[in-house]
Amino acid sequence: MNPPRLVVALTGGIGSGKTTVADRLGELGAGVIDTDQLSRELTAIGGAALGPIAATFGARVMLPDGSLDRARLRQIVFADPEARARLEAILHPGIKALMMERLAALQTPYAVLVVPLLFETGQETLADRVLVVDIPESLQIERVTRRSQIPEDEVRRIIASQIPRRERNARADDLIDNRGDLANLEHQIQRLHADYSRIAATPDSPQTH
Ligand code: ADP
Repeated sequence: MNPPRLVVALTGGIGSGKTTVADRLGELGAGVIDTDQLSRELTAIGGAALGPIAATFGARVMLPDGSLDRARLRQIVFADPEARARLEAILHPGIKALMMERLAALQTPYAVLVVPLLFETGQETLADRVLVVDIPESLQIERVTRRSQIPEDEVRRIIASQIPRRERNARADDLIDNRGDLANLEHQIQRLHADYSRIAATPDSPQTH
């Protein structure tokens, strides 16, 4: 099989259900590349971004074992837009290069690139279609605080730092409404998987890149 003929960028706010959707599309046969995962690889011990981050932010973001103190770094960049810009300048080129490399190596009919900050970083041009997972803010807070130790006020700050829901939805080619239960979500995922498989199988499809 050749590299994917259709590239779908998957985005949505924190806790909207991106990982759930991507994992399921992966099970159904999509090639999934998660930029959060790439970011973790680049910032792990031995990763290309760890040295530059330590040089930029100093010993306060490093743990005694030489690994990155992710919670501390997250606090710093959410409190300081300039620090956030410096971190992004270190990470984004590496993430993009790794993403293109992995994409070219996939052997699936279509690819799903999970990019939480797709519009914020202007990366929608990398994909043929944009899939947005949508839930209201109250549900984002409920699901994120249930899943993790992140306090509610920090979740609110993260939401406020992301593109507004209405604007994100307006820029979607495909939209998943994830207000319902997991069975309802599964139904929408199945339909999208069928659509993407069909588009990827269509010769000379205008969706190909
Ligand atoms: P994201 O990757 O966008 O941050 P996740 O896929 O991790 O979001 O989902 C956030 C949390 O909500 C997870 O604990 C997930 O299991 C849960 N979740 C996702 N979709 C639903 C749903 N339809 N009903 C209930 N819980 C859900």
